[in-house]
Amino acid sequence: MKSILIVEDVELNRDLLVQLLEDSYQLVLAADGVTALERAAEVKPDLILMDLSLPRMDGWEATRILKADAALSHIPVIALSAHAMRSHEARARASGCDDFLTKPIDETLLFKKIASYLGN
Ligand SMILES: [Mg+2]
Repeated sequence: MKSILIVEDVELNRDLLVQLLEDSYQLVLAADGVTALERAAEVKPDLILMDLSLPRMDGWEATRILKADAALSHIPVIALSAHAMRSHEARARASGCDDFLTKPIDETLLFKKIASYLGN
């Protein structure tokens, strides 16, 4: 089973993602950017869902650090943002995020994007 690191500080949003994905993927959770980097290094997940607004270290910074690490830079990062703002997506892509989804999450689109990186 492929593994996904879910980085999301709001428990309700995290629980929703867990419910959607737990039957198909092995899940690892983090609630802030610093913990996300620790978990990514430990687990080397196959994909990361990265909220952007996070405590301790935001998702843009965490992704920049991940993508600068030769051991982790290959892991696809899908940014999650509550704001459909173009500037958020542009900043996310500039930080190295491979893809971008706006919240509330469209389940069909989420599954489609994950499958495009991990296969079905
Ligand atoms: Mg957040």
